[in-house]
Amino acid sequence: MTNASSFPQLVIPNTLAAGPGPGNTDARVLAAFAGAGIADHMQPDVLRGMIECKHMLRSFMGTTNVHTFGVAGTGWSGLDCMMSAVMPGDTVVAFSNGTFSGIDALTLRMKAATREELAADSLNPQPASVTVIEVPHGQSVTADIVEAALAEHKPKWAFMAHWETGSGRINDIRGFSDACVKHDAMGLVDAVSSLGVEDFAIDEFPGVVGWASCPQKGLLCLPLTYAPVSFSDRYIETLKANGAYTYANHPIMEARHWGIVDGQDVEKGAYHRTHSAYAVSAFHEALRINLADGLAKRAQDYVFHEKALRDAVTAMGCEVTSNMTSLVVLNLPAAFAGREMELVQNCRAEGFGIWPTLSAPVQVRIGILNLLTQAAITEIVTKFAQAMNAIGAEVDIDEVLVGLEAHYQSRIAA
Ligand SMILES: *Cc1c(COP(=O)(O)O)cnc(C)c1O
Repeated sequence: MTNASSFPQLVIPNTLAAGPGPGNTDARVLAAFAGAGIADHMQPDVLRGMIECKHMLRSFMGTTNVHTFGVAGTGWSGLDCMMSAVMPGDTVVAFSNGTFSGIDALTLRMKAATREELAADSLNPQPASVTVIEVPHGQSVTADIVEAALAEHKPKWAFMAHWETGSGRINDIRGFSDACVKHDAMGLVDAVSSLGVEDFAIDEFPGVVGWASCPQKGLLCLPLTYAPVSFSDRYIETLKANGAYTYANHPIMEARHWGIVDGQDVEKGAYHRTHSAYAVSAFHEALRINLADGLAKRAQDYVFHEKALRDAVTAMGCEVTSNMTSLVVLNLPAAFAGREMELVQNCRAEGFGIWPTLSAPVQVRIGILNLLTQAAITEIVTKFAQAMNAIGAEVDIDEVLVGLEAHYQSRIAA
C-alpha cells in the first residue's frame, strides 16, 4: 500500500534561472507570498489589494483601459482570456514566427473553428476563416508582412506576438497596430515576454484592442499568480455583443472581482472565483517593485546587460540570432553544431537553467530576467564558457572575462 512514508517531503533546489522564463523572483515578492496571512478572497484587505493592483497595472502597462486586471494562472491563462472573444467562423490573420506565436495561432484556430472543423481534427483544426502567416524561425514579423496580409484578407481579428520567445525575435508592433487601424482589424497581442522589459505604453498602439502578458517574465512575479490583461472599449463592446464560451476566463466577468462592473471602477470587487491572498500579496509587491524601478530604467538595464552577454558569447565563437533584450538565442561554433542539447543538458544538470529552443532548429537560449548585475552576468558567462570547454571548445575564459569587465567599466566611465 502507498503511504506518506513512501514519499519524503519534496525538496526543490535553487537553480540559476537563466532561461527565457520564469525569471529569478525577487526576494521581496517571495516574502510577500509567504508572509500573507490566511484570508479568504472576500476579506477587505485582499479586495483592497486587488483594486490597488488594478491601478498599478494600468500605470505599468501605460493605459487608461478600464478593463485592465490579472487573470489567475500563467501566460496562457491570460492569452486564453484575451482570445475568448474570438468566435467560431470569425475571420482571423495570425502571424507565427516561433514556438509561442505558433501555439497562439493554434489557440485561435481552435476558437475560430466551426464545430465541424473542430471535430475534423480537434487537436489541430484548420478552419477556413483563419489564415496563419508563417515567418521563418529567427526572423521578425515586419510591417510589410502585416500590411500585405491584412490588405489581402481584411480579417475581423489580427494577432501577433510582440516578442517571440521561441526564437528571441522582436516583431514590429508599430507596423502591426498601423495596419490594424488601416484595415479595421481588431489587433490582439501576446506581450508575455515584452511587458516589463521594453519601455512601451499600450495606449500608443490604437490598432490593438487586447493585450495579454504573464506573471513570471518581465513582471518578475511568481508563476500561477496573475497574468496581466488589458482590453479596449471596442473589444469589450464586441465581446458583449457576441459573448464568449467561458465563465472562468470571461473578460467582463473576471473583471468584476477586480472592481470593474459595467465598464466602471467600483469600490469593492464581487465574487468571480476564489482568489489567493498569497498570490494577491505577491502580485502587489511585484508591481510596487516595477513601478519604483521605472520601466525606462529597467529597459535600459536590459539593453546594457544583454549586450554584455551577447558580446561575451560572440567572443566564445557563438553566433547570436536574437534581438530581444532579455534573452540571447545562439548557434554554437560550427565545430559543435548538433551538440546544443548535450550542452544545455549538462548545464541544467548542474543547476544552471539555460534552455534549448523548443522547435527546430535547435539553438541555445540564455535569459537574464532579473539578473541585471555585473556579478550575475559574470556568473552566467563563466558557467557557459566552462560548459563549452567541457564539450571540447577551447575558450580562453580569462580573456572573455577581461572583455566583459571592459564592458562594465565603460558604463562606470560614462
Ligand atoms: C512564455 C510565453 C508564453 C507562455 O506563458 P506561460 O506562462 O508558460 O503560460 C506565451 N507566449 C510567449 C511569447 C511567451 O514567451
